[in-house]
Amino acid sequence: MRRARRFGGRAGEIAAEREMNAMEIKAPRGVRDILPEESWKWAYVVNTAARTMADFGFSEVHLPLFEQTELFARGVGDTTDIVEKEMYTFTDRGGRSLTLRPEGTASMVRAAVENGLCAQGTAAKLWCWGPMFRYERPQKGRYRQFYQIDAEYLGVAGPMADVETIDLSAELFRRLGMKNLEVVINSVGCPRCRPVYREALLQHFQARRGELCETCLERMDRNPLRILDCKEPGCGTVADAAPAIYESLCDECRSHFEEVRSGLERLSFRYRLDKRLVRGLDYYTKTAYEILSGDLGAQNAVCGGGRYDNLSEAIGGPRLPGVGFACGLDRIVLVMEQQGCTFGRRPQARAYVAALDGASRGRPRSWPTSCGARASQRNRTRRTEASRRR
Ligand SMILES: [Zn+2]
Ligand SMILES: [Zn+2]
Repeated sequence: MRRARRFGGRAGEIAAEREMNAMEIKAPRGVRDILPEESWKWAYVVNTAARTMADFGFSEVHLPLFEQTELFARGVGDTTDIVEKEMYTFTDRGGRSLTLRPEGTASMVRAAVENGLCAQGTAAKLWCWGPMFRYERPQKGRYRQFYQIDAEYLGVAGPMADVETIDLSAELFRRLGMKNLEVVINSVGCPRCRPVYREALLQHFQARRGELCETCLERMDRNPLRILDCKEPGCGTVADAAPAIYESLCDECRSHFEEVRSGLERLSFRYRLDKRLVRGLDYYTKTAYEILSGDLGAQNAVCGGGRYDNLSEAIGGPRLPGVGFACGLDRIVLVMEQQGCTFGRRPQARAYVAALDGASRGRPRSWPTSCGARASQRNRTRRTEASRRR
């Protein structure tokens, strides 16, 4: 009945549409459907990523969407907003605490260690793409189920791995046609030198605590580095005047940072130092970076990444240095649309054969049907062979 009405002219269409809109069950708040109008653009971005990753020697992996909660509590850091407020955690029927992955890096490192991909000191270059889940306030371009492309270069501690990773992410955005790419970098130090910087920061923030927002006052004891990237204007003014980490870096972190910078210069990257660029995740060490795209003033961060030499040990694995990045598909498509980038050609069938009556519907034995291209190839080959024999 419903079908008949839906195809019963314009009036029927409108009625069907109303009926649909009246449906009581809707998608949960903060998630959305990626419909045909948009999904082909996503496929273009993912395919371009796949080719770029392959050119840089990265292999694709598919990882579970949920993991043991402990992986993220230990690997992401339990003083971060993600673990404190944003995770989708549930108990399964076996009484285990599981969490929908809020990001990809911890899972990737878990998978590499568990499957011995970096055994005996070998390096692994891995990438994946798919949905991540965070309970955040929904707003334009930010969803509770969002999609990321994620690349991780594991097992190499040297600064050239950072440069290669930054180069890979920038190359992806170049191939997607994004305009005015700029790399913003900082160092977040290591467990040896970060406490020194933390002290210097605390002194600065203590002296001006009256100007900080409530969240930042809470951050003061647990994670004062996070005050640096607070979006509240008052906190921003205080953060701008805060000491930079460069003076506090240990020799190893300092020379690592200098080599990353000179590597970027050799590749003619336009880059900028930003002492307020910190990562919300505790396991990051040394290099932190973002890639911005667009005209000055209207720049968008399209990618965030950095080094995380202590993540593997934090989740109970062996020492395994790593560097990587993640970029949001929703954001990339949005920025590409704003910048008028092309998504290639929308894929569509070149020909579609429809049976018009029952008689022809019963006859298409000789016509390639559900087997598609392979069947049509087989038929062509047969035909060619037959004509040769003649
Ligand atoms: Zn250090
Ligand atoms: Zn603040």
